[in-house]
Amino acid sequence: MKTIMELKNIDKTYGNITALKQVNLGILEGEVLSILGPNGSGKTTLLRIMACIEKPTSGEMRFNGVKVDQGNINKVRLKTTMVFQKTALFNTSVYKNIAYGLHLREYSKKETDKKVKEALKTVQLEGYEKRPAKKLSGGEQQRVALARALTLDTDVLLLDEPTANIDPKNVSIIEEALTWLGKEKKTTMVIATHNMFQAETLTTRVALLLGGKIAQIGAPKEIFRGPPESLASFARLENVFSGTSRILQEGTSVINVENGVQIEAALRKSGKVTVFVRPEDIILSKKTVASSARNVFKGKIVEISDFGPVVKLKVDAGKEIIVQITKRSFIEMKLNVGSTVFLTFKASSVHLI
Ligand code: ADP
Ligand code: MG
Repeated sequence: MKTIMELKNIDKTYGNITALKQVNLGILEGEVLSILGPNGSGKTTLLRIMACIEKPTSGEMRFNGVKVDQGNINKVRLKTTMVFQKTALFNTSVYKNIAYGLHLREYSKKETDKKVKEALKTVQLEGYEKRPAKKLSGGEQQRVALARALTLDTDVLLLDEPTANIDPKNVSIIEEALTWLGKEKKTTMVIATHNMFQAETLTTRVALLLGGKIAQIGAPKEIFRGPPESLASFARLENVFSGTSRILQEGTSVINVENGVQIEAALRKSGKVTVFVRPEDIILSKKTVASSARNVFKGKIVEISDFGPVVKLKVDAGKEIIVQITKRSFIEMKLNVGSTVFLTFKASSVHLI
């Protein structure tokens, strides 16, 4: 199989944060590659570099064997299309949103109509041409964004968490569209996801990205065929934090996880560690609560995802922390994006990976 894109020894740093470390990766023609990793592992950064909208700090990128440089980067950028995790549609009709890229490329009206129609069919939004795009639900808007990307027929389609934070019905429609694109249209795709199920079922190859490094790469069967339990469960986890741990006198450890955030854990280990806290093990309250729990963080809700009986909240507390509460508590507490909340969890809820 032909290698379309090649990344060699890619590093990316932001100040003293290392987002990617020595990434070596080739994208093969016709493959569906997933970049599987927890929040903060570098997935978005990697995709943005592939899309040529971000430059690596060091390393080399090749497209169809040709080194990407200042002279050809604008041309290479047109070879890929990235669908962003947060959709930004224009405040106009669905048709105009999807036709935008074709318009720039001076397609005729007839060709544009045909391509828009085809793309809408793939995302199951036939007949939606005249609808105001901004009035659609979040999931439908994500489908429009996918349709817009599809019309461009670029060599590689880059999808950043295409189903994160949307409702289950829209998730399955998008999964169906991606399966069809991969199997029938043989579209070359790179899908960033923290959803292990998607990596296993939708993709032909999985690159496990942990802390900015590719920890493992292979066919889904190889990756998920009973590797060390920690590896398999890693990708399913939320609230994964890496940092430097120091053992305290009382026998617990305090882990410094960047941005001044410190987590106390009921374990004795010093040096570099990676830990996780289950979203359901975190207590959320509007005021500080008196408890024996060693970890209390103040933060603001930045994202709300409704999963029916339970709601997941993303809270920015210096680090982003995901908390799961029941829908009933969510309603009773009158929470909203921007609400200030306190998060409390025990040192024994912090698990080492
Ligand atoms: P993921 O998409 O897997 O959640 P990201 O690629 O968004 O991961 O981020 C990887 C790391 O790089 C994180 O520690 C994040 O905070 C950091 N990072 C990403 N973009 C920036 C930026 N523009 N400035 C500073 N740090 C960033
Ligand atoms: Mg991301």
